Amino acid sequence: MDFSFLALLLAAGALLFAGFLLFVFGPREKFIYQIVFREALDPIFLMTAKRTLNMNKAALNLFGFTRKEMKSFVPYEASPEYQPDGRLSKEKAVEKVKKALKGEPQQFYWVHQDRDGNSFDTMVSLNRFRFFGRTYLLAITRDISAEKEAYKTAEKEEQRFRTLFEHFPVGVSEQDYSEAKRILEEIRDREGSDIDLKAYLHAHPEEFESCVESMRFIDINSSALKIFGASSLEELEQNRKKIIGPETEEFYIREMEAVLKGHTSFEGEGFYRSLTGEELYIRKKWTAAPGEEESLKRVFVSAADMTAAYKACQAESETQRKYHLLVEKGNDGIAILQEGKIAFANSKTLELLGYSQEELAGRLFLDFLTDDEKEKVGDFYRKRVRGEDVPAIYETTVVNRSGEIIPVEFNVSLIDYEGRKAVLAFIRDISFRVQVERSLYIEKAFFQSLFENAPEGIVLVTPESIITRANRAFLQLFGWGEEEVIGKNIDELLTDKETRKEAYSITHEIKDGAELKREIETIRLKKDGTPLDVSIIGVPVTINDEKLAVYGIYRDITGRKINERALKEATARLKELARTDPLTGLLNRRGLLELMEYEIKRAKRSGKRFSIIMGDIDHFKEINDLFGHDTGDLILENLAEIMKKSLRAQDLIARWGGEEFLILLPETTLAGARCAAEKLRKNIMDHVHHIRDMEFNVTITFGVCELKEDLDSEICIKRADNALYRGKEGGRNRVMSSGD
Ligand code: GH3
Ligand code: MG
Ligand code: MG
Repeated sequence: MDFSFLALLLAAGALLFAGFLLFVFGPREKFIYQIVFREALDPIFLMTAKRTLNMNKAALNLFGFTRKEMKSFVPYEASPEYQPDGRLSKEKAVEKVKKALKGEPQQFYWVHQDRDGNSFDTMVSLNRFRFFGRTYLLAITRDISAEKEAYKTAEKEEQRFRTLFEHFPVGVSEQDYSEAKRILEEIRDREGSDIDLKAYLHAHPEEFESCVESMRFIDINSSALKIFGASSLEELEQNRKKIIGPETEEFYIREMEAVLKGHTSFEGEGFYRSLTGEELYIRKKWTAAPGEEESLKRVFVSAADMTAAYKACQAESETQRKYHLLVEKGNDGIAILQEGKIAFANSKTLELLGYSQEELAGRLFLDFLTDDEKEKVGDFYRKRVRGEDVPAIYETTVVNRSGEIIPVEFNVSLIDYEGRKAVLAFIRDISFRVQVERSLYIEKAFFQSLFENAPEGIVLVTPESIITRANRAFLQLFGWGEEEVIGKNIDELLTDKETRKEAYSITHEIKDGAELKREIETIRLKKDGTPLDVSIIGVPVTINDEKLAVYGIYRDITGRKINERALKEATARLKELARTDPLTGLLNRRGLLELMEYEIKRAKRSGKRFSIIMGDIDHFKEINDLFGHDTGDLILENLAEIMKKSLRAQDLIARWGGEEFLILLPETTLAGARCAAEKLRKNIMDHVHHIRDMEFNVTITFGVCELKEDLDSEICIKRADNALYRGKEGGRNRVMSSGD
């Protein structure tokens, strides 16, 4: 036996194996991606059309199956039989998978079911990738139940839609394509229906241009403006030509071909330019507004900026690409920290903080937190790293490059990275959620007080007519106590044997009837058995056609006259309940106090503090005495305007008394509040009020206070008031704070 030959064979084998290791475990980015896959907050599946190959922890948590169970089926099999649009889950899912396998990335809303059969809402994205000549799918399934719940309620008011549109994290706009459609059809009618639109428009650039010109914006949100680097719709309209580079033409022509073919929606990716000349890679989708499919007079357009992902993808090898999809196309900021310093940050993190990768490298993560958060987050971080038992997710706030404070969810876990211990951090922007939460809270409080204080008797019953809530007026009307009615069948409670049948038939009518709101005049019995003439209105509460409950509104009509008076009084009471001051449009005392209680709750939950500023106009009595109350009122209105302009959108300003103001600054320390008050003081002092050919200057004295551990609004307001008083003593037109 020749041993040298064997040695040669072994050496060759080792070399091959090393190559294999290098390939499998590969460059260090790949390693990051593997950890990210494991630790990602969003559930992720690797699958083929028929089989689930692997999934991460988040997927197992969400669905509640074991890894072995999960591998025995494909994720869409964990769904109810039908989707909310009425389609068979299986059929719809197979269609999506097919499209994804063809290379069209899919993103869609999907209802899943966990191991216990509970349904929940998700947003699924399916992307194809190839590896060693085989095709795989990457499915990311985000649980959006919480968001959906918030949206459902928010959908109610138009105003809320506006807010949604404005703050939607994706660029959205509404455009008018009707003129473009007309121009294109004219060209077709002239040139014949077999026209090669692309060749034609290349040969007639002026016609192409007028067609693009005619695609007008009706409305656009700030995210969309941001993508193109425009500060307003006007600026974007005026510089429309700038965003069209040579490659954009190809993209527009594809869009125009779709318009000419009569399509009512379009989806594609292509190049644009920002107003500052940077190349952008945009995924654009549009759909005609309902009823405008033919005219395209109103088209809803969304534009997602994929530039970073595109550039990254181009440079990547095919294997790395699937992981890149994960890190760069996901919605979360992801960073790797070593000894607290940033070693790696994905594009979402860069976008969130507003710095480049180079600028961030080696900097302490804590530097990007707001001052009041540094210590607590540092503490959380250390505890997590040591494996102590603390909640996995921490709500905190970061400051971006332009000084904006952004609420985020922060989550860290320990990993091995390049042979050393490191920390994988997820940073999720939750500003949108916080905003929705807050407006929902206000809305809820409003409806609650309306329910409680309404002059009519109102009950909320289940579809089976069981009372779940009753307001004061209802209890008074029929003479029952609250605990006596909850859980009772309303029809049985208010009737006797003779009248019950009629009550049942009305209930049935409300349940099945096409006529949903109908006033019925009839007789119901009080607790003591005496009959009462009432009118009843039944209002079903439905979501997606499912009847969840019915509001019954009962009005005493025995003495309409007496009632009318009561109604007037109640209306006056409701007006008083309103939360705004009619003169200045600011919050009134009650409105502010309510929101302050809400902020205190938030503060208790998140440990975040806030500060308040109390202001009182100097020598205001003299102005009133010399120039009249009307002049005084006009000055009050002006001051309200100045305050609104000088403060941040999230600050709450109230007219506290006649010429006193109270301002609440969320997430602001004493030092910050002092700065704000000083700025206000200066702006007010410098403002010249022009009223009836006269000119006035007015000054205000301010007292500032930060909400301390005891979290008591009354004490805090008192302290601000005391500081204000000292400011008056000390000569007015100044800012004093509690503790000065
Ligand atoms: P200082 O605060 O600097 O001590 O002097 P002041 O004259 O402003 O005193 P005070 O704060 O007690 O002022 C109360 C005066 O403010 C009484 C009244 O003339 C005026 N005022 C209060 N409410 C209103 C209002 O709604 N409209 C107008 N025009 N004036 C008001
Ligand atoms: Mg006063
Ligand atoms: Mg005053």
